[in-house]
Amino acid sequence: MNSLLCSLDNVDNHLRTGAQKLCYGLKKLGGMEAMPEDKPTIIAQNRVKCICPKCPTYNECMRTDDQLIFCLTGRSPTCTFDKKGCLCPACPVARDLHMKRSYYCIRGAEEEQK
Ligand code: SF4
Ligand code: SF4
Repeated sequence: MNSLLCSLDNVDNHLRTGAQKLCYGLKKLGGMEAMPEDKPTIIAQNRVKCICPKCPTYNECMRTDDQLIFCLTGRSPTCTFDKKGCLCPACPVARDLHMKRSYYCIRGAEEEQK
């Protein structure tokens, strides 16, 4: 339904503004699942806010490869870890995108953990 509503090609100009507002609201309510087409943009916008580098679990392997924002991109493809705590629950990205899980670097992205 979101894709249909958010494709405004066939929407009369008079209705366009209202439809856009509703589309935005649905995306906000639905989180990442409702806006897969925007995922690369969302990753780029939020990567700088990721607080993983301050985490005790974050290690030299991740730092060397500049790996971040595992909550959206999935577990680290190359590094191994010892769990030493996870800062994700306190991260502004988790708050803004309504994500509830943790240890994304080990367990995989929010969508994978559902
Ligand atoms: S929730 Fe965790 S993995 Fe996602 S941006 Fe924040 S600190 Fe990084
Ligand atoms: S995903 Fe969580 S545990 Fe992994 S480095 Fe980021 S804050 Fe730490």
